[in-house]
Amino acid sequence: TDWEKRVTKSARNTTASSFTVLVTGAAGFVGCHVSLALKHRGDGVLGLDNFNRYYDPNLKRARRKLLTRAGIFVVEGDINDSQLLRKLFDLVPFTHVMHLAAQAGVRYAMQNPSSYIHSNVNGFVNLLEACKLANPQPAVVWASSSSVYGLNSKVPFSEKDRTDQPASLYAATKKAGEEIAHTYNHIYGISISGLRFFTVYGPWGRPDMAYFFFTKNILKGKQITIFESANHGTVARDFTYIDDIVKGCLSALDTAKKSTGSGGKKKGNAQFRIYNLGNTSPVPVTELVTILEKLLKVKAKRKVVPMPRNGDVRFTHANISRWQRELGYMPATDLKSGLSKFVKWYLNFYSASKKKSV
Ligand code: NAD
Repeated sequence: TDWEKRVTKSARNTTASSFTVLVTGAAGFVGCHVSLALKHRGDGVLGLDNFNRYYDPNLKRARRKLLTRAGIFVVEGDINDSQLLRKLFDLVPFTHVMHLAAQAGVRYAMQNPSSYIHSNVNGFVNLLEACKLANPQPAVVWASSSSVYGLNSKVPFSEKDRTDQPASLYAATKKAGEEIAHTYNHIYGISISGLRFFTVYGPWGRPDMAYFFFTKNILKGKQITIFESANHGTVARDFTYIDDIVKGCLSALDTAKKSTGSGGKKKGNAQFRIYNLGNTSPVPVTELVTILEKLLKVKAKRKVVPMPRNGDVRFTHANISRWQRELGYMPATDLKSGLSKFVKWYLNFYSASKKKSV
């Protein structure tokens, strides 16, 4: 069929030494950037995304346009569809899977808890089953989250710290993902690395995240709500710029040891690794707003309220010495310069999409 031809063609256009990577969640924020970076350096990339309606589907379609222009095909489908996965793995000998499809966001779990189980637990197992059966067996790199550190963690968070107090259902499903991945690694010899991202931001970002909807509301002259933790001081995040996250993803793919199994049979010991990908410099949310005000040249209408118990933690801060030591990279973008790139993209994207629908 036409669909199958496009899949095989898009995977074939690569140099002999490069990887062939299945990127799940390719129409998402991080997935789109990682796909472009892989393609740019000569790897074969095939995207998979179910284009769910968690946030503005126009933004996902616009990201897909960007990928199409770069020669990347995105299959519209769900990671829970085993038949589809089987077909993709039959058609394309993937060397790696970069798994970024997930139900993201912390607060949405109050409205739609099962979507987290569907994508982050069932979907992940389904994908790992397909990897287990594939021949060759791909190495897997996937996105976990800083949210696994949960309540009352000491800062900065290091990979060895406890992760047994998730503050949200999202965090619980990410933690479950880590246990599931570890199981697939030791039973089936699949090489797996989990990346705990810390609040990723940048161009083509997610409209449900604070820096994004603050920008939107500041520009509209609407009030923005900032949470303060009454007893425990400022609410702060270790904001990490998308380009730094992309570099972390690529180096995790590069260092992923070749899987040792195939066709569901384990042959030896494949690696299982967990890495913090953060910026190591938490910034209070009030300071984030001040930077945005300066960049947008508009004063925000701030309303400061006590932090509700909705799944958010007060403070995040990554210890990234493992990232530095084993993957050889340091984040390079501070919040001011990263936000300035985001604001530039935002103004450009939304003025263009007002003129023509994207
Ligand atoms: P995103 O929502 O922009 O991207 C996820 C993509 O996956 C979406 O396009 C969505 O349509 C797709 N998807 C969801 N469920 C699917 C399913 N069942 N089958 C196929 N596609 C599906 O989110 P993002 O910010 O790009 O996040 C990427 C990954 O990083 C996620 O695993 C997320 O949990 C994790 N993460 C992100 C951040 C952050 O700050 N952005 C922080 C920590 C972890």
